[in-house]
Amino acid sequence: MIELLFLLLPVAAAYGYVMGKNNASNEAQQHNQEIINEYSKGLKFLLDREEDQGLEHLISLLEISANSVEHYLTLATLFRRRGELDRAIKVHELLLKHDALSLEQKKHVLYELAQDYMMAGLLDRAEDNLVYLYSLEDKNALCQLMMLYLQSHDWDKGIELFQAKESDFYNSQLKKTVANFYCEKALLENKFNQLDAITELTQDLVRPKFILGENAFKQKDYLQAIKYWGSLLDKNSAFSPIFLDKLEICYEKLNLQKNYFSHLSKHLKSDNVLIKIHYCKSLMKQGKHDEAINYIKQVLRKQPNIRGFSFLLTLMSEQSQDIKLVLTEVNKLVQDYIATKALYQCNHCGFTSKKLYWFCPSCKHVESIVPLNGVDGF
Ligand SMILES: [Zn+2]
Repeated sequence: MIELLFLLLPVAAAYGYVMGKNNASNEAQQHNQEIINEYSKGLKFLLDREEDQGLEHLISLLEISANSVEHYLTLATLFRRRGELDRAIKVHELLLKHDALSLEQKKHVLYELAQDYMMAGLLDRAEDNLVYLYSLEDKNALCQLMMLYLQSHDWDKGIELFQAKESDFYNSQLKKTVANFYCEKALLENKFNQLDAITELTQDLVRPKFILGENAFKQKDYLQAIKYWGSLLDKNSAFSPIFLDKLEICYEKLNLQKNYFSHLSKHLKSDNVLIKIHYCKSLMKQGKHDEAINYIKQVLRKQPNIRGFSFLLTLMSEQSQDIKLVLTEVNKLVQDYIATKALYQCNHCGFTSKKLYWFCPSCKHVESIVPLNGVDGF
């Protein structure tokens, strides 16, 4: 808490400066003297480690004066970071009561207050502030508003907001967010006709095509599923672990194994070992056992990977009955090891999980969680 002292000392100094100015009237001098005295009391509480009393005292000063707005904003941010939302809200609400704030300062305080409200779960109040700020063309408010609708699962409101402006108004992250709102709505209502229109809303968007592929697969429309998942494989091969097994089934159902093999062949330069494993499986199905084993060995030399290693053990055990038992046991240990590892990681905040989240539970970014690569990944 000692950091608060450093934060507030300039405030006291500023009052000292005002006091010292020759042209200050007697009345103003008296008013400022009172404020300095109150500050001194607050600081003394803090120095005496009586934090609660000290902070309440300093906050109450806001009721007398809104000078030094920036310092109070910093103080409130500190409260919020420490999880002391009541205090952050109180400081921001008191600041707003002062007529002396410029429009820019008022907007800043309203924005910060909206964040306090969101964290405190007071979503209606946060929404009021943000809608007002957005009416003043504040793009930060728009981002926050979308985060709010994400938090409240209010997909319709987010979509309405998006439709009210030309899509150029939105940056690619916001487009991704809105596209995921469409996905949530489609899954909720089990209606997918609106998703086609947004598959290309922004580059590297994954989920709409993934869902459309899933839906086509469930309907046994394998050609459509290949269209969506195949396009994802071409544009976002990092996500292939979530659909590659089913994509293979689609090609098999249509008796198009050769097309699958040539599709995979185009992606062998990718970092994704799973694509190479699938390529080997295709080789095996063509009876090219030795070629498959040599290929995966070559891959593993360049790109050590535990799933690739497990696959190699499977191939080798199938080749030799003599060591099948031993290799199967080793492979079981490897599989147990794989089962302990995270499968996905957020490329924005580093959050890891075994489940794929389209909205990162930690940093709330959209589609930032991707299947892991590397030794333990795919
Ligand atoms: Zn994250």
